Amino acid sequence: MTLKLISLDCPSCGSALRGEGLDTVFFCGHCGDAATLGENGLEMVEGSALAPAPGRHPGLWKPAWLIEADVTVADRLRSGGRRTEGWSTRRTFVIPAFVTPLDDLTRLARALSEGAGTTAELPREPIHGGTLAIEDAVTLIRHIVIGEEVRKSDMLASLRVDIEVASRRLVALPFEKTGDGLRCAITGVMVRGEG
Ligand SMILES: [Zn+2]
Repeated sequence: MTLKLISLDCPSCGSALRGEGLDTVFFCGHCGDAATLGENGLEMVEGSALAPAPGRHPGLWKPAWLIEADVTVADRLRSGGRRTEGWSTRRTFVIPAFVTPLDDLTRLARALSEGAGTTAELPREPIHGGTLAIEDAVTLIRHIVIGEEVRKSDMLASLRVDIEVASRRLVALPFEKTGDGLRCAITGVMVRGEG
C-alpha cells in the first residue's frame, strides 16, 4: 500500500495538518481544532472528544461526526394502504468518519447514537484522519432511521424520511487495539480497521 502524505495548514493556528491518502477530515495536533477538505478547500469545524467508558484504556483515536438533526418521518404507509402517524424530533447521531466496512460502520453508529456520549477534552495523542464527508454521514443517518422504522413490526410499505442538520462537529472517538481489529472504548463494539 502506498501512503501519500499531504500537508495542509490548520485554518485556526496555521500548523501543518497531516493526512494520509484520501483523508478529508483532520484534527490539528497543535490546537485541537478540526477541519474538513471540500471543494472550496479547508473548512474549520468545531472539534472535541468523547470520553471512554470507565476502565477502558484507549490506544488510538479516530474521527466521527457528532450531528444534531431534525428527523421527520412522514407519509408512513402500512401494507394494505393504512397510513400511520408520522413524527418529527431532534436527535443526536454519532457517525464514524474513518474507513471501516459499511456493516461495521452502521453497527457502531447505531450503538454510539443510542446513548449520548460524554464529551471530553481532546487527548494529547495524535488523532487519525478520516474520509467520510458530512453529506455521507447524513445519508447514513437516513439509513439508520429507515432501518428503525422497518424493524417496527407493522408491515411498513413506504415512508418519507427528511434529515435536517441543526449542528455538526467532529469528535475524536477512543479505541482499544485488539488482535483482529478495534474495540470502541465507549460502546465495546468491535470494528475492522487499521490502527
Ligand atoms: Zn490548529
